[in-house]
Amino acid sequence: MTTEMRTIGHWIDGKPHARPSERHGEVFDPATGAVQARVAMATPAVVDEAVASAKAAFATWGSASLAKRTKVLFAFRELAEKHKGELARLLTLEHGKVTADALGEVQRGLEVIEFACGIAHLIKGEYSENVSTDVDVWSIRQPLGVVAGITPFNFPAMVPMWMYPIAIACGNTFVLKPSERDPSAANFCAELLRDAGLPPGVLNVVHGDKVAVDRLLEHPDVQAVSFVGSTPIAKYIYETGTAHGKRVQALGGAKNHMVVLPDADMELAADAAVSAGYGSAGERCMAISVVVAVGGAADALIPRMQERIAKLKVGNGLEPSSEMGPLITKQHLAKVSGYVDAGCAAGARLVSDGRTLKVPGHEHGFFLGPCLFDNVEPHMSIYQDEIFGPVLSVVRVDSYEDAMKLVNAGPYANGVALFTNDGGAARKFQHEVEVGMVGINVPIPVPMAYYSFGGWKASLFGDQHMYGMEGVRFYTRNKVFTGRWPDPRHRGVNLGFPQNH
Ligand code: NAD
Repeated sequence: MTTEMRTIGHWIDGKPHARPSERHGEVFDPATGAVQARVAMATPAVVDEAVASAKAAFATWGSASLAKRTKVLFAFRELAEKHKGELARLLTLEHGKVTADALGEVQRGLEVIEFACGIAHLIKGEYSENVSTDVDVWSIRQPLGVVAGITPFNFPAMVPMWMYPIAIACGNTFVLKPSERDPSAANFCAELLRDAGLPPGVLNVVHGDKVAVDRLLEHPDVQAVSFVGSTPIAKYIYETGTAHGKRVQALGGAKNHMVVLPDADMELAADAAVSAGYGSAGERCMAISVVVAVGGAADALIPRMQERIAKLKVGNGLEPSSEMGPLITKQHLAKVSGYVDAGCAAGARLVSDGRTLKVPGHEHGFFLGPCLFDNVEPHMSIYQDEIFGPVLSVVRVDSYEDAMKLVNAGPYANGVALFTNDGGAARKFQHEVEVGMVGINVPIPVPMAYYSFGGWKASLFGDQHMYGMEGVRFYTRNKVFTGRWPDPRHRGVNLGFPQNH
């Protein structure tokens, strides 16, 4: 007997999309390697349907009261909190990350929803009385209309939550195109939003690939695009979206350094490097992938890291004992293992080799154990490329200045961390480093929702970071008024440029 494969479909106009899809992709269970579902892949016509629904919904949602919008967001926050266990389970099933990590992802997304619940305060305008005699000036921020979000596989719940809660709180309507590799979280959240009272069409989800993305980028009714993903695609999204007259923020890839000065607490630094290097199997844009060990720091650090690596439990993310899960696909596993081979061939010293790892009962899962390289040189591909897997490189440098030169020469500039007990060195570092998000004795400095998230250089195309006040600015535009009430004293023709007096 054959059982039919489950299909994950689009969510358009407040309900599952009824028409069968012409194209499908496969969704794997990364822990077993089995295909667990198929996902609909949107055609341009399906994208058009979603945009039309969002455009129609904007006619009322764009003018809905702040009280109404806040109420929906607050109800969504309560539902997301209540169902966070189910959401986290979906993340583990399709992404592979372990349960504790999945719950952490949901928590960080929830914080953005909570921030968006404060929209009434965040969106307040400005008012200046008597800029000239009896003349007042005031400004408001209005929503853009239909906006789109295109998101990566590695945070299927949190990264979309960086976008749509703020966008819809500001009065926009939204079309989300999540990663086709782990699509279920987006539909789950769309259902929660419906249950929270969000009107149909305010949030639509279309699944798919480049075909769907390209239609969103060129669609005349899409006003703005938020993107998070790899650097080549981020650049493409930015260039194509702006060429079509859209506002675009496109966050790209990363290669994050952790600089360890010789005076650092080496136990703390080893804990941090291992946690930030191998958490989520290294599939985080804020993962540490290079430890820059200054002076003798490497000799103190590496044995401590090896000790911790040896104890890490790699396995199915659903098992409570697992600390690290599999990679997302077989192809990605092959790519990451290929980097480990290339590092060995280039002469780096592989001090922990995860390639031999076997997870009993999961022989076809996409697992790779933690890999640690010492004596990595900047010309090696393991140093230069974003590997996005559990591969950590240690580069030895002589001085703080050499470390700073190395970090600032990198093409990516998403996150960086410094480990030291020297406040003066930390202060100098935070001033000199050319990176968007900086941790001082904190390895993964992801800003809270009321700050904004974004890197510099090839980690961000566009000028507004995501969420926080930059998110509110991205999803709104400013309108400025100048007014006075008619008064006989104002009569008389004057062709001169208005002057204030
Ligand atoms: P990706 O760039 O392959 O895909 C991201 C999105 O773009 C997906 O929705 C995908 O369907 C779409 N896409 C892929 N190829 C496309 C193409 N040719 N044309 C149009 N659209 C396309 O990224 P990924 O593998 O899903 O995610 C991992 C990457 O995301 C890493 O590089 C990671 O650093 C980055 N990332 C960055 C941040 C950040 O905040 N800077 C956060 C998370 C992930």
